[in-house]
Amino acid sequence: MTGPAGDQQDVPVLDVRRMSKVYGEGDTAVHALRDVDLVVRRGEYVAVVGQSGSGKSTLLNILGCLDVPTSGRYLLDGLDVADLDERQQSVLRNRQIGFIFQSFNLIPRTTAFTNVELPMVYAGISRRLRRQRTSAALDLVGLSGRNDHRPNELSGGQQQRVAVARALVTGPALLLADEPTGNLDSASTEDVLGLFDGLHAAGRTIVLITHDHEVAERADRTVTVTDGRLTEQAGARP
Ligand code: ADP
Ligand code: MG
Repeated sequence: MTGPAGDQQDVPVLDVRRMSKVYGEGDTAVHALRDVDLVVRRGEYVAVVGQSGSGKSTLLNILGCLDVPTSGRYLLDGLDVADLDERQQSVLRNRQIGFIFQSFNLIPRTTAFTNVELPMVYAGISRRLRRQRTSAALDLVGLSGRNDHRPNELSGGQQQRVAVARALVTGPALLLADEPTGNLDSASTEDVLGLFDGLHAAGRTIVLITHDHEVAERADRTVTVTDGRLTEQAGARP
């Protein structure tokens, strides 16, 4: 699946209009997102900050097509996600989005190499190309010496670097990270943020969720979620 014809540079990677998300209904309904507008352009590095329970993960799950909004419109790379069936959404997710989670979400008892290779198996990429790209991605995150290590043989920081390699390997338009440094010590946090800096410099589009303002400062733009409402931090645009 590709975006619409025309100049891809002009199509925002994310274009969210008046998006709301309600969990449940009636008296117990939770308004997790309220009329959220958000446009992210190619190459931007955006931090989403907010307190626990403010709606950050809900937003990220919808942006990543892991969940659907209750109302509003969401274009991913120019495609209206609501127009796609579940299979098309999963293809879009596999090709266009790289996910990085707080708890790494690597497959246990499976080597670093295979963890990184797997998204390409699902994408139907040839074995030879898979091996090349996996090696290059592990090299990029500084883990080429750890190809055969399983997650439990790696430190938290190393596991997250494997997860970054896995997120990158299909060449997605967008990297989505939910509290990627939440389980890391300060040295590993610095490693992972350094990787993100490099990816950003190389033109990747990154949306990173964090409750840590020091982490958010690495991005070139910060938006804040408060009780499901999103506000742009004044003067944060470069
Ligand atoms: P954050 O990531 O900022 O901590 P979340 O997006 O996880 O916030 O949650 C936002 C609000 O939605 C919270 O009140 C949370 O309890 C509620 N919520 C999140 N997921 C669900 C769910 N699956 N069902 C019901 N309520 C949920
Ligand atoms: Mg969360």
